[in-house]
Formats: sequence, structure tokens, C-alpha cells
Amino acid sequence: MKNRTIIITGAGMGLGYAAAKELASKGANLALVDYNEESLSKVKAELNESFPESKIITVVADVSNEEAVKNYVNQTVKAFGKIDGLYNNAGIEGKQASIIDYDINVFKKVIDINLMGVYYGLRYVIPVMQEHGFGRIVNVASVGGIRGVLNQMPYVASKHAVSGMTKNAALEYGKDGILTNAIAPGAILTPMVAEAFKQVNPDDPKAAETEYAQRNPTRRLGQPQEVAKLVSFLLSEDNGYVSGQTIAIDGGESNIY
Ligand code: NAD
Repeated sequence: MKNRTIIITGAGMGLGYAAAKELASKGANLALVDYNEESLSKVKAELNESFPESKIITVVADVSNEEAVKNYVNQTVKAFGKIDGLYNNAGIEGKQASIIDYDINVFKKVIDINLMGVYYGLRYVIPVMQEHGFGRIVNVASVGGIRGVLNQMPYVASKHAVSGMTKNAALEYGKDGILTNAIAPGAILTPMVAEAFKQVNPDDPKAAETEYAQRNPTRRLGQPQEVAKLVSFLLSEDNGYVSGQTIAIDGGESNIY
């Protein structure tokens, strides 16, 4: 990944942070984007220390804000002159509630971040990739982008949309050397998933986690570094011909009937 420039949204923790570590370890130059300035600074300091050969900028941005997305794209081009990869990862789960009880404002927020945030990223990064005739994009869907998930309707709607947008981006820009895929993680142990277990069982989130893991064919949750390895492959030149796919990384769980 030397001399490659990759943008990672939601880089402050969880899957984005794990990918930042993986890509920095391979020598990529990174633009780390998050709306949490404090966690971004911590990640940058840690990576600078561990991987000094990787050049890193941070841009504070809410991906649901179109102007903020234009700004992270401009800042990246200013710093590195090009964009080779986009890890369109920032997303939120929203609250868990049935369809008829769901808070409409939370519903709209989930759509704004998970769907529009991914769209704005595609809209403003693709023209830069077109100029250079090369690009690799990984959008983050979810197993909830393949199947329904009880009490998470806006999340499921937004992640199905991510999968759909991935197919369209692959169709429209493959001719420009741009390959676009989505990943569909199952339960990967990040702060977001830890929060979900708290909602399921506020008194004993660890019990909720253990019970959930038992449903998985591997009897465990996934680790962020495992997802980072897949993402690193999809963002690299080693991926020459995979495009338009939503690739599950879930220990096989989405195959259970
Ligand atoms: P996380 O909550 O642990 O981390 C998300 C990061 O994104 C945080 O640093 C947060 O500050 C940032 N972020 C959130 N909204 C943002 C916004 N509007 N603008 C900028 N930054 C924002 O979450 P995670 O588990 O790492 O999830 C990352 C992505 O993976 C999400 O899209 C999520 O839906 C998806 N996903 C995660 C899992 C899982 O098991 N962890 C499973 C399926 C899909």
C-alpha cells in the first residue's frame, strides 16, 4: 500500500480504527475522518508512533453533512494529490424499537448518516479517482443489509441501501478503473456492538454477548482486525476484478435458516 492514499471515515474507533492500523502497517498514507475530534487525535498519535513511514492527516467531519464531506475530500487531495481508496465506514445503529414505536427523528438520523453519508462519500471521491483512472471503494453494509434484524428497521433499510448503492457504483464506474464493494459484518466486537448488548440486557450485557455468540457457527464474535484484513485486500491492487459485491464477514452466520 506504499504511496497509496486511503480515506477512512469513522476512523476514531471500532472497524475504522482497526483498518487504519492495518493500512498504516502496510505503509499507506491515510486521511482519517470522524466527528469525534478527541478519538481522531488519539488514533493519529498512536499510528504516528507505531508506523512513522505512513503519512496521516485527520479531518473532523460529520459524514451526513455534504459540505463536511466536500471538505474531507479537498483536504485529502491538498495533502496527498490523489485518492486511491475510500473506506466508507462511518455509521450508527440508532435505537432498538419496533416499527410502530420507532422515533422518527432517530430514523431520519440513521438514514442521514448511514445512507446519505455513504452517498456523499461516493459523490465527491469518485471524480478524484476518475482523474487518476484508479480507485478502490469499500462501503460498510451489515448482515442487516442482507437480512432483517428485529427492532432495527432504519438500520436495515440504510444497510440494504448501501448494498444497492455499491452495485450501482460498480456498474457506473468500473470503466474508470474503480472497483466498489461492500462488506457485511456480522457481530464484531466494537464499541457499537458493546452498546447494543447493553440495550438488549442493561443489567448483564456480557450475558447478552455470550448468548449471541452461541448462535454463530464459530461460537464467537468477530474481531475488528479480522474485518480490517478483508478491507485491506479489497482496497488494494491485489483486488483486480471483484466489484459490486456485498461480502459477508460473519463466521457463516447469515447462512443459518
Ligand atoms: P463504532 O460505534 O464502534 O465506531 C464508529 C465510528 O464512527 C466512531 O468513531 C464514531 O465517532 C464515528 N461516526 C459515527 N457517526 C459518524 C458521522 N456521522 N460522521 C463521522 N463519524 C461518525 O462502530 P463500528 O462497530 O466500528 O461500526 C462501523 C461501521 O460498521 C458502521 O457503519 C456499522 O454500521 C458497521 N457494522 C458494524 C458491525 C459490528 O459488528 N461492529 C456489524 C455490521 C456493520
